[in-house]
Amino acid sequence: MNLNQTRLFDDKLLHLVLVPLSDFGLNINHIINGLRMTTIHRIETRTPFPIDRVNCYYIKDSAPTLIDAGVNTDESFDEVESAIKKAGGTVEGLKKIILTHAHSDHIGLVARIVELSVAEVYIHKWDASKMADDGESGFIERIDRFRRFFLQTGVPESVIEKTLSSIFDRFRLFYSGFSGVKPLEGGEIFSFDDFCLEVIHTPGHTPGSICLFDRENGTFLSGDTLLEKISSNPLVELGTLAKEVDYRSLEQFMSSLHVIEALPVIKVLPGHGGPFSDHRKRVGELFTHHEDRINQVFNILKDNEAPLGTGSGMTLFSVASAIFGRLEGIDLFLGLSEAKCHLEVLEKKGLVLSQKQGILKVYFLENSPGKSVRDIVSA
Ligand SMILES: [Zn+2]
Repeated sequence: MNLNQTRLFDDKLLHLVLVPLSDFGLNINHIINGLRMTTIHRIETRTPFPIDRVNCYYIKDSAPTLIDAGVNTDESFDEVESAIKKAGGTVEGLKKIILTHAHSDHIGLVARIVELSVAEVYIHKWDASKMADDGESGFIERIDRFRRFFLQTGVPESVIEKTLSSIFDRFRLFYSGFSGVKPLEGGEIFSFDDFCLEVIHTPGHTPGSICLFDRENGTFLSGDTLLEKISSNPLVELGTLAKEVDYRSLEQFMSSLHVIEALPVIKVLPGHGGPFSDHRKRVGELFTHHEDRINQVFNILKDNEAPLGTGSGMTLFSVASAIFGRLEGIDLFLGLSEAKCHLEVLEKKGLVLSQKQGILKVYFLENSPGKSVRDIVSA
């Protein structure tokens, strides 16, 4: 570990970014003795969502740390508490909680744990605003943002209200807001007694998704960015961030995969499912999955070809329905996200055009004779 390469960005974080020399000496001793005193314990907890289970990780250390924090249910809390106890610690003794991204199955228990402990909570700054409890007005504003998105994408009005209540019940029931997070930027180093975790910003699944990498031992905590059996969704960003940083989820996700592919990872500890190795094989499968999906979206538009200006292009809802069939609840948002992020890539490559028609946004194929979509997309 070369401390000179550490990026210092915020005085408040200095204590964890720069390892005090005495501690560093201790670390070296541990490594020289070949001892790995610290263990990362995987805690798998239940969620009420179709994904079923989510992982958090407990690091037994002189600064006991939890990576991610399940959903906010008594059952999930009990599972976390008893697993920490079994590992020889206590929830009350937690000093840090590091969150890989702000989804309710990963951040649910934060407020409850902080009430019981003195834990500091870290999350990337691009996901930090999603953690806050912004009261009733903030909640209504969030719902409005989703309502506008559904209207623009052509979701029938009869479906919109039902979908909104199912999405926001999920949010309200399984997460209680938390303010006071310490924002990360990527590049920070969390130092433990005998190893370090480097924060790697991997936007795509959410703008503020991070992975944590132990460079010395090759352990990679991947959050939802790299899962073995599920291709995680690059989700539409409906906050103001998307405009501020020109955020396109799939484009960002692909660059994050390139970053991950280059890392000397030995073992992946994911947000869902068991540990796995051969991260490059999994990254390769995801590249293929998204290329195939881009082709599929291109062909859907081709099959529904309508000249620009005829007012009969395809809405996002019709593209998503052509891919997935009938979509409901949160799956509708996930399906629209999937269709949108692939259309964004095609649009950026000049293969697709979009046009506003009243409140609707519709998509048309921009014919590019002689070129295959695969050639253009991978160029
Ligand atoms: Zn997630």
